[in-house]
Amino acid sequence: MSVVKRFIAGAVCPRCGAMDRIVSYVDEHARQIRECVDCGFHEKLRDADTQLPGGPEEPETRVTRKKPVAEVKAQPIKFFPRMPGKSKNEDESGNKP
Ligand SMILES: [Zn+2]
Repeated sequence: MSVVKRFIAGAVCPRCGAMDRIVSYVDEHARQIRECVDCGFHEKLRDADTQLPGGPEEPETRVTRKKPVAEVKAQPIKFFPRMPGKSKNEDESGNKP
C-alpha cells in the first residue's frame, strides 16, 4: 500500500510557519495525518469514519452567533416640487428689441 501525500495549498505549518509545506495523507488506520515536510511537524486529525463507540465524544462547540436584527425601516422619499418661478429664463432668444 502506498500512501499518497498531497500538499495542501496555502496551508501554513503551525510550528515553523512555512507555507505550502504541509502534506496531508491517510495512514493505515484511516486517519487523516497532517505533516510538515520542513520541520517534521506531525498532526493527527480526527478520524472521520472510525468513531469509537463510547469513546470520548468531542463536544460540539458551535459558536452561537447572535444574528443582528437589522431592522430596516422604509423611509419615504420626499420630493420637493420645484418652484416654478426659479427656472431659467426661457424667453431669452425671443427678447429682441
Ligand atoms: Zn513546519
